[in-house]
Amino acid sequence: MSKTILIIEDEKKLAQLLEDYLNASNYVAHQVHDGALAINSIKEKQPDLILLDLMLPNKDGITICKELREFTNVPVIMLTAKVEEIDRILGLEIGADDYICKPFSPREVVARVKAQLRRAELVNTQEISKDELVTLDHDRFVAVVRGQDLTLTPVEFRLLEKLSGSPSRVFSRASLMDNLYDDHRIVTDRTIDSHIKNLRKKLATCFESELIQSVYGVGYKWEQTAN
Ligand code: CA
Repeated sequence: MSKTILIIEDEKKLAQLLEDYLNASNYVAHQVHDGALAINSIKEKQPDLILLDLMLPNKDGITICKELREFTNVPVIMLTAKVEEIDRILGLEIGADDYICKPFSPREVVARVKAQLRRAELVNTQEISKDELVTLDHDRFVAVVRGQDLTLTPVEFRLLEKLSGSPSRVFSRASLMDNLYDDHRIVTDRTIDSHIKNLRKKLATCFESELIQSVYGVGYKWEQTAN
């Protein structure tokens, strides 16, 4: 069965180029050139992956990504014209899985598409074991990990909840800081890092591999494919 990729991109030549390369790698591709048509098209085509341009007529990529996350976990690769945009978008936590900056080589895009589809498959097949991996007990601030109780501080608990709730998704330190404390106090990047360090230490008593991975220059992600 061929995987279906939805290309949401208003530059028609670019969209066609991507489609050609995807076809050559045995993917089925559909194009949408108008932001206003994106959501309906996603619901109709039910793609296995979405390539989503940031700047689109009538509805921008950020809005589309937020809206589609309300009904699907499909991998989304954002296409942006500026590297600086990526930082800003990460901070908004719109739920994209990867980012590619223009101009890009179509080969690179196809490679990233393959990587995301592989990852999505892993997440799906490990859905059941994932649930067994970490269970969060909100009343006691205890994480039950592989049947073992891990007592966490409220901050560690919230970090774990946020990271493990969206596996493979990259969170900036800024977005992790939000909602960490009830009193909304200002915390620094180093505060986050030290909480992460403590949390890792506790998780390390149950797992050999690192579940919380550092993403250089950005923040952290939860990689549940680890075992
Ligand atoms: Ca555009």
